[in-house]
Amino acid sequence: MIVDVIVIGGGASGLAAAISVKKRNKQVLLIERENELGGILNQCIHNGFGLEVFKEEYTGPEYAYKFIEEFNDLKIDYLLNTTVIKLVKNGDEFVVTISSTAQGLKEIKAKAVIISSGCYERTRGQIAMPGERPRGVITAGSAQRYLNINGYMVGKKAFILGSGDIGLIMARRMHLEGAEVLGVAEIMPYSNGLNRNIVQCLNDFDIPLYLSHTVTNVESDDSKRLKAITIQQVDERFNPISGTEKRFEVDTLLLSIGLIPDITLLDDLSVEVDQKTKSSKINQAYETSVPGLFICGNSLQVHDLVDNVSKESSRAGNCTADFLENKFKPRKKINIIPGKNILYVAPQYLDFGWDFTDLIISFRSSKKLEKAIAKVYQGDNLVYQKRRTFVVPAEMETISFPYQELNDSQDIRVELEEL
Ligand SMILES: Cc1cc2nc3c(=O)[nH]c(=O)nc-3n(C[C@H](O)[C@H](O)[C@H](O)COP(=O)(O)OP(=O)(O)OC[C@H]3O[C@@H](n4cnc5c(N)ncnc54)[C@H](O)[C@@H]3O)c2cc1C
Repeated sequence: MIVDVIVIGGGASGLAAAISVKKRNKQVLLIERENELGGILNQCIHNGFGLEVFKEEYTGPEYAYKFIEEFNDLKIDYLLNTTVIKLVKNGDEFVVTISSTAQGLKEIKAKAVIISSGCYERTRGQIAMPGERPRGVITAGSAQRYLNINGYMVGKKAFILGSGDIGLIMARRMHLEGAEVLGVAEIMPYSNGLNRNIVQCLNDFDIPLYLSHTVTNVESDDSKRLKAITIQQVDERFNPISGTEKRFEVDTLLLSIGLIPDITLLDDLSVEVDQKTKSSKINQAYETSVPGLFICGNSLQVHDLVDNVSKESSRAGNCTADFLENKFKPRKKINIIPGKNILYVAPQYLDFGWDFTDLIISFRSSKKLEKAIAKVYQGDNLVYQKRRTFVVPAEMETISFPYQELNDSQDIRVELEEL
C-alpha cells in the first residue's frame, strides 16, 4: 500500500498541513512520537496564541485543541507514540521507517512527505560555557515541561541565560510558582524575545535584564547541585570584560540560548541546507530540493508566533496536494537572496514551474531598526517595497506581492533600508 502523504509531527505545523491536504481529498497519515497531538503547544500554558488566526487570545493547549477538533472531524488517520526513525526515497516513492512499542519497526510508503518535526533547544555544550557541571543547569523548554506537564518545580532560586521567548516566559513562570528569579542575562545588546514578553514577563515582575552579559562561571556545592553563577559584561566581540563580574547564588540556571530546526530525518536525503536557517532550502511551494518532500513550521524556520506556523503549514499542505495533482511543470528557478540588514530569507528559490499568484517571503532582520523599508529587487529593478516600524531580529517578518513583475532571468534580493 502507498499513502498519498505522510506528515511527520503532530504539532501546530503538522496539524495544519494534514488538514489542508485532507481538504483536497488526498489520503494522509500523520505520525507523532508523543502520546498526544499538539506538540510544544501542550506545555505552553500561558496565553498569547491565536490573535492572528482566531482574533482571540488562547493558551497553547486551547489553540492546539481548535486544530485537533478540525483534524478529528475530518477523520484524518494518525499514529501516536510512533517515531519516524528513517526517511529515504526509492524512485518516486518515499519509504518511511517507523518505530513504536505497538508495531515494532515498520516501513510505510508515500508519494509525498511533509516534515513538521519542530525544533530542539541548544544546550550548554553548544556554547562552551565555563565552570563546573552540576545538576540544576537545564534548558528552559525542559524546565517548562517538568513544571507544566509533569508538575515538578525545578528550583527555588533561579537565573536565566538568554532572553528568547522561552527564557522570558519561564522567568515569569518560575516567579509565579514561588521561585526567586534573580535575573536574565543576554549576550546581545538587545533581547531576542518578543517585545510584549519583555514587558509582561520581566518588567511587570521587576526581574532585571542584563543585556550584553553572559555566564562566565558555574559553581557546584558538595552534592553536585548548582551553588552559584557569575555573569560578566561582554564587549562588541562578545569577550568578557574583566572587572564587571557579578556573582549570584542560585540553585537553577535555565538556558534559553536558541532553537535549531530538527532536520535529522533529512540525513539520508540529498537536501540542500541553508546555513542561516540551519534547515532545508525550499522553493515558494515549501518543497525541498528533493521533489515531493515538503517542510514547514519550526523544522523549516524557528517561528515566534504559532499563527504564522499554522498559515505557512496550511499553504505547504496545499502545495503538496498540487504536487500530487501534477500541477508542477519543471521550469527555471532563480535564487532569493538575503541583502542588506537581512539575516535570512525563506523561500530561498523561486521556481517558475509552480503556478502562483503571490510570492510570500519570510525573513528576519540582522539588527534592530526603528524605521525601515523592506525592498525587493530583481537586478537593479525595485519590484516591491513596504514600510516597517520597529524591526527586530526576534520577530519574523513576512511580505507578500504579486508575481507579475518578476522574470526568470535574474535573482531576487531582499533588503531592509534604514530610514
Ligand atoms: C516556550 C514557547 C513559548 C511560545 N510562546 C508563544 C506565544 O506566546 N504565542 C505564539 O503565537 N507562539 C508561541 N510560541 C511559538 C509556537 O508555539 C511554536 O512556534 C509552534 O507551536 C511550533 O509548532 P511546530 O508544529 O512547528 O513544532 P512542535 O510543536 O515542536 O511540533 C513538532 C512535533 O513533531 C514531533 N516529532 C518530531 N520528530 C518526530 C519524529 N521523528 N517522529 C514523529 N514525531 C516527531 C514532536 O514530538 C512534536 O510533537 C512559543 C513556543 C515556545 C517553545
